[in-house]
Amino acid sequence: MSKYVFTFGNGKADGKADMKELLGGKGANLAEMTNLGISVPAGFTLSTEVCSHFYDHDKNYPPELEQQVLEALKNVEDMMAKKFGDSKNPLLVSVRSGAAVSMPGMMETVLNVGLTSKTIPTLIDKTQNPRFVYDAYRRLIMMYSDVVMEKAAGVEPKDGFGIRERLEGLIEDRKKVKGVELDTDLDGDDWKKLSVAFKKTVKDVLGEEFPDDPYDQLWGGIGAVFISWNGKRAISYRRIEGLSNEMGTAVNIQAMVFGNTGETSATGVAFTRNPATGENVFFGEWLSNAQGEDVVAGIRTPNPINLAGKSDKNQHLLSLEESMPELYAQLDRIQNQLGIHYRDMQDIEFTIEDGKLWMLQTRVGKRNGAAAIKIAIDMYDEGLISKEETLMRVNPAHVDELLHPMVDPSAEAEIEVLVSGLPAGPGGASGQIVFTADDAEAWASEGKQVVLVRNETSPEDVHGMHAAAAVLTAKGGMTSHAALVARGWGKCCIVGCGALNINRAEKIVDVNGQTLNEGDWITLNGTKGNVYRDKLPLVPADPLNNESFRRLMELADEVRSLGVRTNVETPEDAEQALIFGAEGIGLCRTEHMFFDPKRITAMREMIIAETEKARRIAVMKLLPFQRKDFYKILKAMDGFPVTIRLLDPPLHEFVTLNDDQIANLAIELSIDEHLLKARIENLHELNPMLGHRGCRLGIAYPEITEMQARAIFEATVKLTQEGVEVFPEVMIPLISTAAEFRHQEAIIRQIAKDVTKETGTKFSYLVGTMIEIPRACLTADEVAETAEFFSFGTNDLTQTTFGFSRDDIGGFLPTYLENQILPHDPFQSLDQTGVGQLVEMGVKKGRLVRPDLKVGICGEHGGDPDSIDFCHRTGLDYVSCSPFRVPIARLAAAQAVLRNK
Ligand code: PEP
Ligand code: MG
Repeated sequence: MSKYVFTFGNGKADGKADMKELLGGKGANLAEMTNLGISVPAGFTLSTEVCSHFYDHDKNYPPELEQQVLEALKNVEDMMAKKFGDSKNPLLVSVRSGAAVSMPGMMETVLNVGLTSKTIPTLIDKTQNPRFVYDAYRRLIMMYSDVVMEKAAGVEPKDGFGIRERLEGLIEDRKKVKGVELDTDLDGDDWKKLSVAFKKTVKDVLGEEFPDDPYDQLWGGIGAVFISWNGKRAISYRRIEGLSNEMGTAVNIQAMVFGNTGETSATGVAFTRNPATGENVFFGEWLSNAQGEDVVAGIRTPNPINLAGKSDKNQHLLSLEESMPELYAQLDRIQNQLGIHYRDMQDIEFTIEDGKLWMLQTRVGKRNGAAAIKIAIDMYDEGLISKEETLMRVNPAHVDELLHPMVDPSAEAEIEVLVSGLPAGPGGASGQIVFTADDAEAWASEGKQVVLVRNETSPEDVHGMHAAAAVLTAKGGMTSHAALVARGWGKCCIVGCGALNINRAEKIVDVNGQTLNEGDWITLNGTKGNVYRDKLPLVPADPLNNESFRRLMELADEVRSLGVRTNVETPEDAEQALIFGAEGIGLCRTEHMFFDPKRITAMREMIIAETEKARRIAVMKLLPFQRKDFYKILKAMDGFPVTIRLLDPPLHEFVTLNDDQIANLAIELSIDEHLLKARIENLHELNPMLGHRGCRLGIAYPEITEMQARAIFEATVKLTQEGVEVFPEVMIPLISTAAEFRHQEAIIRQIAKDVTKETGTKFSYLVGTMIEIPRACLTADEVAETAEFFSFGTNDLTQTTFGFSRDDIGGFLPTYLENQILPHDPFQSLDQTGVGQLVEMGVKKGRLVRPDLKVGICGEHGGDPDSIDFCHRTGLDYVSCSPFRVPIARLAAAQAVLRNK
């Protein structure tokens, strides 16, 4: 018989930490903590196999499940010395989700399951605290009706008002009647009356009675958690995070402990190291007399857990260290134990019930990029993790974050702070204010930069948070939903900005005597927690002054075998790339050197020339510019190879002109306007991406290739004479046949000979080609007979393999992603199954003929970690990417070695 249910409690558990796939992260870690002797309320986990069975069998459970659940529940009853649904000593349980990979807040939870008309009086009797019991009961009704009776049942809220919002409205009404502000100002009688009103509203709105049978509640909760696995927000979270839909969630049923029974009770969330900076100090927040959701939901602003967590913003709030020193010491010992046991920063949840500490969760804590890198390097130095683990600990996206901009300090010094809050996600960002997640998404899709301003966020808002440049909330603490989610993405975020008075209906926010409207610009300094009016300038990040970053890059370089080059066209960008560790230029797009107004006229003159003679004259005007460009860029890369690609412009890009511009160009070039217009019309192509571009241009107009080769070699000679080490690699674009390559190669080699003869200076160079058309891959052996290197242009190779226009994919890609026809944008991350085969074939065929063929990649994929892993496996020599992705590529290349060992 299959085992579907795994028990934990009283120091013994069926599971352990490495059973995450079966028990989910939460279940596996509850088992592990239990085995470590840490006090965890007893419970049991329904494995992810139940979830798979549920979805494979039309939402039915395995037949043996019910019996196993009842036995496990009996076990928990024995361990807790309480009975589920009992009128003498009732056991209450929580029902929570838990997938193998943490999806914070994306799935459902029901607490206080087991409160019924039979158990309520007993509990009041036992606790002598009717307020606590009715508060727990109304929370159960609220969660259960929302999660089970509405969401899981697929009920669409009437007029957009969900049951939870309606019930919350009843609480607000009650507070108004009583003239109080806080939930804590309501007494037992209020909560009792509210429970009655809640049940009536549930019946009226949802048409069903709130269940009064504990087992109905339990199975209702279990089913809702499984259904929430395929809820809208869980699916969208998995899509954003690139997580598989297959793994399923487990369900954890656990004895309830209460942090809200009175002043000797408390609850909190903490991290074993600071998740914002990585500093090795215990960091967290707590609330006395509260339930865990109060901390995370940001309904009350929580207190710092210890003295170390105090800042000028929360100075006045009592820490747990001060309030309950013994329990704090115990918690501190446990967090230390967990940090060392798991050898990673942990995110823990605890509850203190009447002076007893219970651990409710431990999991690897989310952190931002700077913290991830610092924690990894610190743990390496502390001897907790190996070099390999250190490198695998940091996500390449974390490195990216470090390269993000900050608010310009000089501009910041000039302007008054509009409002401040808690610095939840560091870095700077500015954007136009929007008040709903849907607006954030819609505005962003129009290319606008937005800041999502909310009272607090909920998992319903993730799509808008993702689309926004930054998130600003009026409520909540450093562990609130907004803070956790934003930090996970490395997004700039400020929370708990109490002075914000948001009027969502009117789309305005009043703050410190000023009114801001939807669409107004603000700037956030997420590192300090300050908000400013207007759009302030940002300065680029300064990762080079980050010691941990530098060390991480050094470790990566020790391990990786792929070279990392960069795609640049200017000496300034080349310098930047060198600073980031580039080992050469993998792609210099020469057509990008002509967007300057002075040059573009010469370029246009060349394009529209009708005779070879006219073209030669125009081309020779470009020679001095090109020679100077190549001189500078080769000099900047002293000692490193520089791949210069011959002109590859889709011609239309240079001659898309309106009537006025045509008239002006006609004057500049002293030709007849009508003739010019006719010539431009002649050049018009229906499919410019598949038109007269790449080597087709150099073949039709060899004088262009001659000029470029001459410019490269003359610059090479000059630098050689100056003692600079130069390694030019001349690259021919967009070939589909070996004959095309040979045609261009002959011109280049002839010019090299001419230049050597003219100058008496010898130099070495390579001639190679872009491989970016399927036919070039299929015939790579023929091409490699004379080509000395290949560079995969996977932008065009993706375009031509799929037959998707690079420029037009935006029209249908969203639909493709939504319908899971494509797992991701193939222009961002290489389609390894399809396009990848062509790359593999190209490498294999090329090296068959020329074993030392140098092979790289210079499409956008050269900076994408998954694609870099592929390049490593395929035996490429290097990847080439934009300067700001060079550090990401260095780390990803090291990780590829470790992953594929
Ligand atoms: C490519 O096609 O991958 C490439 C690098 O060239 P471009 O993007 O300039 O067409
Ligand atoms: Mg290309």
